Amino acid sequence: MFSRSESTLTERDVLEALKGVKDPDLGRDLVDLGMIKDVKIADQTVSLAVNLTTPACPLKAQIERDVRAALEARLPAGLTLQINMTADVRGKGIRESGDIPGIKNVIAVGSGKGGVGKSTMAAAVAHGLKSYGARVGLMDADVYGPSIPHLVGASGRPMAIGERIQPIEASGLKLMSMGFLLEPDKAVIMRGPMLHGIMTQFLRQVDWGDLDYLVIDLPPGTGDVPLTLAQSLPLTGAVVVCTPQEVALLDATRAITMFRQLKVPVLGMIENMAFFDMLGYLRERGGPQARKLAEGREYFDASGDERVYLFGRGGARRKAEQMGVPFLGEIPLNIVLRETGDEGKIEQAFAPGSPARPYLLGMVEQLAAQISIQNIKTPRMPKLEILS
Ligand code: ADP
Repeated sequence: MFSRSESTLTERDVLEALKGVKDPDLGRDLVDLGMIKDVKIADQTVSLAVNLTTPACPLKAQIERDVRAALEARLPAGLTLQINMTADVRGKGIRESGDIPGIKNVIAVGSGKGGVGKSTMAAAVAHGLKSYGARVGLMDADVYGPSIPHLVGASGRPMAIGERIQPIEASGLKLMSMGFLLEPDKAVIMRGPMLHGIMTQFLRQVDWGDLDYLVIDLPPGTGDVPLTLAQSLPLTGAVVVCTPQEVALLDATRAITMFRQLKVPVLGMIENMAFFDMLGYLRERGGPQARKLAEGREYFDASGDERVYLFGRGGARRKAEQMGVPFLGEIPLNIVLRETGDEGKIEQAFAPGSPARPYLLGMVEQLAAQISIQNIKTPRMPKLEILS
């Protein structure tokens, strides 16, 4: 404990008392990371702000507890502590901004193959980050099958102001997609160079404004688009969505290998459709007989588990471990996700009481943490230069 009395206590003492308190994810002192701000000492009160690197920080409560405990242990007794938890999303590098002016982080969402829920997860990541107060854009780079406008219920034609294309805004997200530029039933037939041109336009000519996160929904597989993107700008990292089956995991492995070859950090794997919440479903949607069964749990209790692992269990987590990639979470097969997606109201999957909400928010927090870790770990990724 400090021998000083409250009247001579200084900001330095407060920072000194906080030495050793670390951000558990980043593994470094909060003080060294510049996360302790606005220290004020007045009227028996010490107030300060802990400025997190993302509003979606999964360890917010723990960090607040650690700061409080350190101050209580080391400052004179009898002081009131006022800790404000704030957040400013950081980008890469010293300038703390990304390669596109105003955009701090660019995150690509990919998958080894189609149909695993990649677009649904990309939209969920965008909405999830926004729900914590971040400024988010969602770019649909799935040019051959643009489904983002449909998922988030957005339509319209992007207007140009001068040279700048204005993104479509819907439920607090800034959006750009081939879907806004095409007639609904038109197929996209494009060669590599055209694709490159479109990606570059989407990235550079769209007036994204200031964004904490730009989420990009990639086409499935390991084609031209990820390569083009990796060549165009230093991505913060990529997320790979997969389902639990062996075949799907093989494809996911390929996607991870591709990102590594492209020198794009892999932020983690999401296991979508990980299990089916049978009881939850019956309770919500079953007929009277099924609901009774669910309430009585006559069929399900014996297993001790209400989850039905339709495609096998734990495969993606194991694969992530094997590949040395963070595992970001399991998202169940859930009727609310399917329906809200089909109805263009995917944001409602986050509504309080939605059975998908806790899983989605958990995944988004893990991803936000990995983005922060990545930014601290590798200050600036080089643009891709050599490809054999
Ligand atoms: P991809 O982008 O990989 O082709 P989509 O995101 O378009 O896949 O999803 C394919 C279909 O699966 C959509 O109808 C979507 O609503 C549904 N879907 C995706 N994830 C889930 C989930 N966790 N629970 C229920 N349905 C899902």
